[in-house]
Amino acid sequence: MSAPNKSYDPVEVEALKPEEIARRRDEALTAIAAAGDLEALREVKVAHTGDRSPLALANREIGALPPHAKADAGKRVGQARGQVNQALKARQEELEAERDARVLVEEAVDVTLPYDRTPAGARHPITTFSERIEDVFVAMGYEVAEGPEVEAEWFNFDALNFPPDHPAREMQDTFFVRGAKGERDGEGSGVVLRTHTSPVQIRSMIDREPPIYVICPGRTYRTDELDATHTPVFHQVELLAIDEGLTMADLKGTLDHMVRALFGEGMSTRLRPNFFPFTEPSAEMDMLCYVCRGESVGNPDRPCRTCSSEGWIELGGCGMVNPRVLIACGVDPDRYSGFAFGFGIERMLMFRHNVEDMRDMVEGDVRFTRPFGMEI
Ligand SMILES: [Zn+2]
Repeated sequence: MSAPNKSYDPVEVEALKPEEIARRRDEALTAIAAAGDLEALREVKVAHTGDRSPLALANREIGALPPHAKADAGKRVGQARGQVNQALKARQEELEAERDARVLVEEAVDVTLPYDRTPAGARHPITTFSERIEDVFVAMGYEVAEGPEVEAEWFNFDALNFPPDHPAREMQDTFFVRGAKGERDGEGSGVVLRTHTSPVQIRSMIDREPPIYVICPGRTYRTDELDATHTPVFHQVELLAIDEGLTMADLKGTLDHMVRALFGEGMSTRLRPNFFPFTEPSAEMDMLCYVCRGESVGNPDRPCRTCSSEGWIELGGCGMVNPRVLIACGVDPDRYSGFAFGFGIERMLMFRHNVEDMRDMVEGDVRFTRPFGMEI
């Protein structure tokens, strides 16, 4: 930019001559009209209105003019730039309208075309995994047993040796359909949505004569909010064996066989003492971590996310059936003994397939179920 100069004659500045301004403006207008698409128009815009465009450079020269010449030159350049901007805007709208019309035609879908394929869905992993567990036990001679999901409180709690004041019977844990605790009128049993599949074990013992070998998969209900690790409706598999001479050793052997069948050779389980009303003795069962097989324990070089480097994963509860439960179901505890165990299917699926959010399992989105394949 030149310094102000009193003797400076604006008509002598090439870039500010009226015919030069008009020529630059016409060049810009021609280029705008010739731009065939939005991309070309963007380039034209940079060339003719950008900082280095002829009209922008001419505009800078105005500052160097003597005051009396500034107004004239400013008006000329301003008008030319205004015309160019207007033309740009008009062409932009035109090209956008053309593009929108073209997209409508190109991306049109003829919904009346005949469609001869049904999109392949997938069975839900909860179903396929339950069936796989059932298969393991059916192969050992077990029978699959089912029972009602709306269950008499007697089957869900009393027969399983839950005392009347057991906290599990509270409203905040159990969905009562009728006769909530504290509202009962003393007549008969309340009705609940079953909180576990154990009432099916009770029904099995009442319906059958020992020896009894049943596996009870099914839906269960507790008053939890749906979040990443809880759901009010979930699935359990429980197992019951009643026969002469059954011991904890039989239980342990059965558990070991199950985890090997589901997670591969070399797997095993361990039992930790616990308490449940319906078994005595009772235990928590853990299975060896199927990812690190225990090798992450005390080994900071090989941490394991699946078991938090503890080597074991908690699976569920088990134990020898409490004689009081046997008596409630008409089974002679002096002749027969039995074992039972149960675990949640969602939980097992979560670590078997690295499902991080429980909600994925209940939302019914085929994008979740498809990767599990069409296992029948
Ligand atoms: Zn591990």
